[in-house]
Amino acid sequence: MIPIAKPFLAKEEADAASAAVLSGWVTQGPKVSEFEEKFAAYVGAKYAVAVSNCTTALHLALIVAGVKRGDEVICPSMTHIATANAVLHAGAVPVFCEVIPETYNMNVQHAEKLVSAKTKAIILVHQIGLPADIDAFRNLSARHGLQLIEDAACAVGSEYKGRKIGSHSDLVCFSFHPRKVITTGDGGMITTSDERYYHRLRLLRQHGMSVNDRQRHTSLQLIFEEYLEPGYNYRLTDIQAAVGICQLGRLDYIVAERRKTARYYQEKLGHIPCLALPSEKEGYFTNFQSYSILLKDNAPVSRDELMQRLLDKGIASRRGVMTIHREKAYGELCRGLSLPVTEHACDRSIIIPLYVPMEKKDMDAVVHALISILC
Ligand SMILES: *Cc1c(COP(=O)(O)O)cnc(C)c1O
Repeated sequence: MIPIAKPFLAKEEADAASAAVLSGWVTQGPKVSEFEEKFAAYVGAKYAVAVSNCTTALHLALIVAGVKRGDEVICPSMTHIATANAVLHAGAVPVFCEVIPETYNMNVQHAEKLVSAKTKAIILVHQIGLPADIDAFRNLSARHGLQLIEDAACAVGSEYKGRKIGSHSDLVCFSFHPRKVITTGDGGMITTSDERYYHRLRLLRQHGMSVNDRQRHTSLQLIFEEYLEPGYNYRLTDIQAAVGICQLGRLDYIVAERRKTARYYQEKLGHIPCLALPSEKEGYFTNFQSYSILLKDNAPVSRDELMQRLLDKGIASRRGVMTIHREKAYGELCRGLSLPVTEHACDRSIIIPLYVPMEKKDMDAVVHALISILC
């Protein structure tokens, strides 16, 4: 069976986790600080704040952006449901924006039409690792006084206009779930170059506490903590951070390998007339967190039939990125809402296997199966 994805973990990660356990410091401590410093340096941001996952990263980003009950936040419907859930958790209302058919990234013209007196922020998702046009959204946000938040859950190691995702704006949220490009089991990170955001994010992730456990532990003078505002427990553990440090060291290799496999797919599947493959314009560098292919209207089989026939040949596939507005959880909020480009992209696309290391014979099995079903 060829799986859809596999985390790239080895003995180095296992040893690092073991060393963290044996060190006696298991929750947020020295390994979390080291992971944050290395992550910030890698993406080219001043600061990084580690949290428990990307959903909590987005929640904190919305709070420090000043999003409050009754506000509106523009985001795509074609994304992981966590993007919109975080908006609801912050007390605000997600307003769903259309995507561009070529990239599945948010359509800036449509976003502008959705801006109202209640709009406070935009969450820009880099779809399955492919950067969205950050400058266009920075410009839109600046003109309307909105806060831009990047949902870069899938985009670690991707680049926009020659610089890593994480360095372009002041609230960029990453995920280290095993389905993403590097993993800590679960985990998240927020990068920022704004000092005030940095301090408030650190406060909020740890109960609103004025000093952290490590400061208390290492201080030679008696210090008492204060609780400056009601916060959360959104900490990452040192065990996870130890794994994250190893994964970060492998990131460039993992991205290069993913891109090689993607190039191979492009070369072998590019001639199939009923398929649209991912494309990468000048200035947009993707980590290929997923490889999504779209079945055009002239395809000889339906999407579901294609997926079943791949499964019959021992090849896993998944539906393309979901649409939030058609889920039961959003039924009431989105009654009557229609997003034709989003719906078409979701209903006609599938994700095919891509992981590291992926043997050539497995890539060939995927390629031959698709050719035999579609040609
Ligand atoms: C995976 C994902 C999330 C949620 O990340 P977690 O770390 O699992 O909370 C949010 N947004 C997008 C776009 C994702 O792909």
